[in-house]
Amino acid sequence: MPKYSREFLTDLADRTSMVEVVSRHVQLKKRGSNWLGLCPFHQEKTPSFNVSEPRKAFKCFGCGEGGDAIAFLEKIQGMSFHEAVEELAGRAGMELPKETFDPQAAARSAHRDKLFHANNIAADYFARTLASPLGAAGRTCLEERAIETPFAQSWQLGVAPDAWDGLSNELQRQGVAPRIAEEAGLVIPRKGGSGYYDRFRNRLMFPIKDPRGRVVAFGGRTLGDDDAKYINSPESPVYNKSSTLYGL
Ligand SMILES: [Zn+2]
Repeated sequence: MPKYSREFLTDLADRTSMVEVVSRHVQLKKRGSNWLGLCPFHQEKTPSFNVSEPRKAFKCFGCGEGGDAIAFLEKIQGMSFHEAVEELAGRAGMELPKETFDPQAAARSAHRDKLFHANNIAADYFARTLASPLGAAGRTCLEERAIETPFAQSWQLGVAPDAWDGLSNELQRQGVAPRIAEEAGLVIPRKGGSGYYDRFRNRLMFPIKDPRGRVVAFGGRTLGDDDAKYINSPESPVYNKSSTLYGL
């Protein structure tokens, strides 16, 4: 499968009408600058499925599904990434780029995949912790805000336990190199010593995803009385704060 350049995918998004793509499956009505309809990914009677043409994105505020036109086709028609790109390029009258091998780009991409992998392990770990005895404070916090379990699951909410090495141990168990975990912003090297400690401790965790649905970073809200009520992952090769919004 060819890797598409960022330029090609941006160009493809620019030449694709989100509203047109989604309208083939969902009846949309204009609401302000957005379009609104009944979500095709969960049962609902009141529309909470939003399409934004300027953002080239869809987002359901009921179940949390969201992404770009490619993600929409993947989800609704079960297409692969490549099939969705082909379909959209065909409609936009764009020629698919010829496959070229760029060793540097391939190395960068492989490196980014390692960071995504570490973030995925972290998201799974936080979500499992939320459901475990260690997640009691997190569950109380969600209950107080009337956030129900299916919602928490679809957004992959989780808990970072009140420990220095909860996630660090999990990453080690799963064979993630410490410097990868550090680069992903999940762990911090101990000062003047060896080893690493968890960046996020005793926090309600929410993953931040890119339009492809990949976890690029985390936000964490304290479950204790930490002065920093919210903290975010630092920037990394997969997370650029100015260009990533929560799931949008
Ligand atoms: Zn939905």
